[in-house]
Formats: sequence, C-alpha cells, structure tokens
Amino acid sequence: MLFSGVAQHFSKVEAIDSRLEMSGEIAGLLQGCKPSEARQLVYIMEGNVAPSHEGLDVGIGEKFAIRALAKTSGYTVHRVEADYKKSGDLGATAEALLAKKAQLSLSSSENTLSKVYASFLKIARMSGAGSQEAKIGVLSELLNGATPLEAKYLVRFCLGKLRLGVGDPSIIDALSMARHGDKTDKAVLERAFNLCSDLGEVSEVYLSGKDLSRFSAAPFKPIRPALAERLPNAKEIIEKLCSDEKDEGKTPIISRKCAVEAKYDGLRMQVHLKDGEVEIYSRKLEKMTHMFPEIVEAAAALPAKNAIFEGEALAYSAREKKYYSFQQTIQRKRKHGVEKMAEDFPLRLFAFDIMYLDSEDLTLTPYLERRKILEKLVRNNKAIVPSDLIYTDSPKKLDEYFQRALSEGLEGIIAKDLVQPYVAGARKFAWIKLKKSYGELADSVDAVIVGYYLGKGAREEFKFGGVLAAVRNDETGALETIAKIGGGFTEEEMSSLAEELEKIKTKEKPRGVISKLEPDFWVEPKIVITVAADEITLSPMHTAGSVGGTGYALRFPRMVSMRDDKSPADATTVREVISMFEMQRRKSAQ
Ligand code: ATP
Repeated sequence: MLFSGVAQHFSKVEAIDSRLEMSGEIAGLLQGCKPSEARQLVYIMEGNVAPSHEGLDVGIGEKFAIRALAKTSGYTVHRVEADYKKSGDLGATAEALLAKKAQLSLSSSENTLSKVYASFLKIARMSGAGSQEAKIGVLSELLNGATPLEAKYLVRFCLGKLRLGVGDPSIIDALSMARHGDKTDKAVLERAFNLCSDLGEVSEVYLSGKDLSRFSAAPFKPIRPALAERLPNAKEIIEKLCSDEKDEGKTPIISRKCAVEAKYDGLRMQVHLKDGEVEIYSRKLEKMTHMFPEIVEAAAALPAKNAIFEGEALAYSAREKKYYSFQQTIQRKRKHGVEKMAEDFPLRLFAFDIMYLDSEDLTLTPYLERRKILEKLVRNNKAIVPSDLIYTDSPKKLDEYFQRALSEGLEGIIAKDLVQPYVAGARKFAWIKLKKSYGELADSVDAVIVGYYLGKGAREEFKFGGVLAAVRNDETGALETIAKIGGGFTEEEMSSLAEELEKIKTKEKPRGVISKLEPDFWVEPKIVITVAADEITLSPMHTAGSVGGTGYALRFPRMVSMRDDKSPADATTVREVISMFEMQRRKSAQ
C-alpha cells in the first residue's frame, strides 16, 4: 500500500467528528492492507512503532525535524521556522513548503506504508552519539519521496503529534467493520487486546482470518489491568457481591460470601515470569523492572517458571516499622536512588491476583480458585506476600474491617466477587472499592490537564495560577471539562508543572477537548492529576456530561497528587462522575 493513500484517508479521518464514521473510514483503509501492513498501520495510528510497553520512541526533536524539512524542501532553516511560527503546526508547514517545491520538481520514488514503518522503526532504534543526525537523514529521505499531504503526517508523527483523534476503541470497531461491515467482533477483539495490550498484533492475527476467541494471555505481554467500581457503603457492596436473586419484596437474597481485601496505597505492579526471567510492568503497562531489584529477585525465587501475577508494592522501613505510600515511595526513590532505596526501604509486594501460571491462562478462572493458586505460589516468600483479606457476607463485618484498615493507615478496602473471572481492562463490579472519604465524594477524580492559567500576585513567580481539567467521555472519546483547580499545589509542584506545561502548550484548543472556558494556554492532554473536591455539582460553566448546557463540576476542587502512572485513557470517565453524583445523592438522603 502506498503511504500517499494512507495520508488521504488520514486527512478524511481528521475532518470527521462522529466516531462511527471515523471507524468506517479506517475500516476502508484496513481493507486495503495485508495483515502485516495492518499491524504497521495500527501502530502508526496509535502514534508509535510498537505497543507502548516495548518502550520504543521515535522522538525526533522539533529542531531536528525543522532541519530535515529544510534539507528536503530547499528552504533555509530560518524560513521553515518562520512559517512554523505562523502555522503553529510543523506538519502543516511541511505540507505547504513541499507543495511549493512540488511545482518545481517531481518527487523521486514513492513511499510505501511498509517503507515508512521500517524507517520509523529504524529511527526509534537509533541511539547514542550522532543518532540525531542519522535520524534527520532517514526522515529527509522519506520526505524526499513524499507528497505534500504525506509530509504533513510524516512530520507530525515524528514529533509525536499525529492528532488524528483516533483512539483504540475506534480502531477496534474499525477492525470488526473491515471484516464484517459491523461491530460483531468488537467483544472478542477487545478481549484479545486486553490480554496482550498489543493492538497491532491483534489486528494482524484478526485480519489474517484466525479465530480470536482462543486468544490467551502470555508472559511478557502485559495484561490491561482490572479496575474497581465504587459503591457508597458496606450494605450495597454485600448486596451486589453476595446475591444473584431478589425475593418478592425485591430484597436481595444473600447466598454467598465475598472477599474483602485491604486496599494498599502503593504502586501497582504486574509481574511476569518467563522461563525464569522477570519483567515488571506499571499500571500504565510500562516496563519498570530495573527500578525494583528486590522484587525481581523475590519473583525469580518463586516455584514457577512462567507466571503473571499482580500486586501493590509499598516501601517498608523496618527501623520505623512503617509503610510508605505511593507518593512517598517515589519521592524516596528520587532522593535515595534505586540501590540505596532497596536497602533502606525494602519493598513488599502485596499480591492480590494471578492471571497465568505455567502454560495456563487463568483469566477466566473464578476469583476464589485464583486466590488459592496465588497463595500457594507466594507461600514462603519474604518480599511477595498475599494481600490481607477476610471472607464475609455481613455488612457489619465488612464495615469493621474497613474501619480497621483506615485506623492502620490503609486507604480502605476492595471487595471482590468470588465467582468472577479476571476482567482485564475493564471497570466492573467484580471488584468494588470503598475508600476513606473525600468530602461528600465517594472517591477522588483523576482528571486530565487541558489548559492552564498564569499566576497573579504571589503565584506570578511560578508562571502558574492553576489548571483547567477534564474527564473522559467514554462514549465519544472527548475530554470534557470538570474543574478549574488553583489549590492544593505545593510550591515544588507549581514550578515543575509550569515547566512541563510550557513544553506541551498548543496554539489552539486540542482536538477532542470540549470546553466553554478559555484558559491562558491550551496544552496537549497528557498529564493526569488526582483531584479531591467537596462534592459534585451541576454547572453551566463545565461540559462534563453536559445536557441542555449544564455539565457536572467539582465544588472546591484541590490537587491531591500527580499521576505519572496514568495516561489520559485511564482518567475518570463521565459515566463514573455521574455514578459518583448519584451515590452522593443516596448518601445525603440517608
Ligand atoms: P483505578 O485503578 O480504579 O483507576 P486509581 O488508580 O485511582 O483507580 P484507586 O481507585 O484508589 O486507584 O483503586 C484501585 C487501585 O487500588 C488498583 O489499581 C490497585 O493499584 C490498588 N490496590 C490496592 N490494594 C489492592 C487490592 N487488594 N486489590 C486490588 N487493587 C488494589
């Protein structure tokens, strides 16, 4: 397939607002691809050359892309910079400059999708001295054979700013549409993706006609994490997890127990063992193996060759007899360095689930059975221990356990349905969290920063007065604003945020952001922060879940922490905000 054809489809996709139409357009593109090309195309649409857990990054700096563009177009660096300053989009500048050049000379050879992909991969693998020069060479060669429209997407891709507005859910719909004309295979595609976190691989396997229903988890392919729902109190949790039926008066009939686990405020880790080799993935599924030598050592000593299990890691100081939270763990790691940290504050991993053991995919095995397998696996290990739990069907016992957890400095509890499978990549009622309260809110909100304000008065020195934050509409994929946050930032956070935001500011409102407010600067939606608030209210100023001009908003919002372990795709959704709003109503009616 020629890349010029891909660029034409991209250009159409960019102009479409409806997600369904967008998927239809991509389906058409996929139909013209061989399965191996579909894999390459999917990575490119995701803005990468491999699934993100591979850690490959094309990463050409703006300055270098400008030089490559100057080299190809024959214009001076100065001229390219001037045009870029005007357009604010180096891709658009590339398109315009190459269009002028095209009038003078016809380009040499045509780029195929496979050639473009192979070049990007080459660029991503270049490192060390002289690599930037070599990257410029590869990009210039691609630009030489490119139409102006192709150039636009090549340049944007290299800068990590493809901006097609196509998320993984749209690609999944498109794959099914490419084969069946509708979304018939959506569920089976989603499951395969959740089990390997590699949509490129899923696309290739699927479009070569193989049966995805037998797709299995495998070591060194991170599983998209199971997530917890929320309910406001012990009674509702027991009713949800311990009953399948209701009596005539519609009261749930309690027929089984549930597990109630301690909720540790640490760092989520997915540990993989493959033929004795260990790999550790973060919640965002990035490799972080080298950061935790003590967990690697402990995992390698387990009585299994191949396994995937999950837990929450906390630093423990034997001297102080105290656990440290996620934030404290990270801060200490920065201060002490990896080795010293391992010595002074050894980590303990509280294992809470197992998804694979010695060639067996356990994701469809019920929780209770998985738990037994997990306990047997980590028995006798010092650093990896099973999470603490009780089994109960009594709201009173659940409540007592919750209160005890809080008094021990834990964050709350996570109750789990004994008969449910591991629901990879989804927030389902298989797990329900109950946390220490945040005002009237059942939980804090993880919001994406979409813009920021400049500081006034004392804030002036930080060039930072607060942020505009948004939640994710999971139906449309849009980011809808929910709060303007000025409070809760430490001075250190203010200056480091100001620095980071400065780097990602954009001239215009980013595509996919829906806002009535106009911050001093818009930014690429990349940074996620945890926000606490007194309650959720309705407001005409915000667009989250907006109906008839009124959206949901956070009242007295304040920053709690940076969430480096989350990407915008993991932000709180509008659906969750609405369910928290409903819970708040039920709470105040009690
Ligand atoms: P989420 O992971 O649900 O998006 P979050 O990252 O903001 O939200 P919380 O809502 O506080 O975190 O709770 C869920 C997280 O709790 C899990 O992702 C996991 O990291 C952590 N956790 C701690 N203890 C447990 C446990 N016993 N079982 C499952 N998860 C646990």
